[in-house]
Amino acid sequence: MDPLKYLAGYPPQLQAKVRELIAQGRLGEVLSARYSQAHAVRSDDQLYEYVQALKDRHLRRSVPLGKVVYDSKLQVMKHALGTHTSISRVHGGKLKASREIRIATVFRDAPAEFLQMIVVHELAHLKEAEHNKAFYQLCTHMAPDYHQLEFDLRLYLTRLELEQS
Ligand SMILES: [Zn+2]
Repeated sequence: MDPLKYLAGYPPQLQAKVRELIAQGRLGEVLSARYSQAHAVRSDDQLYEYVQALKDRHLRRSVPLGKVVYDSKLQVMKHALGTHTSISRVHGGKLKASREIRIATVFRDAPAEFLQMIVVHELAHLKEAEHNKAFYQLCTHMAPDYHQLEFDLRLYLTRLELEQS
């Protein structure tokens, strides 16, 4: 397994820094220093309310929400984040048609900021199917530090995988 598969789209210097943190055994410590806040969004009903509240605040005029659920079969890389380098995404188009938002179950126990980040990502897909400039503008409108959060989420997923291997 390549532990940096989540960071494949980022510059080599950045990846080198992350490898160094891993080698020093410090990745977990760096992440928990930055993200220590848990969230209380446990059930699908709570998730629906959470997503609806964010949508009301930022995207009131876009399509109404359909179903919102935690999905234990969803693979974050394949379905939620893509590879960062590819522009055309299938899942966005599907979501746009169904207005359904599925959040990988890994986010139920993730720090609050990462749940927010992934919900922002999926909400942006209500308006933009692809990972294009307009899409990321929507994301940073809803979460000004979106890009940092997405990078740190990838670090978090990297760490989870290292722990499991
Ligand atoms: Zn996406």
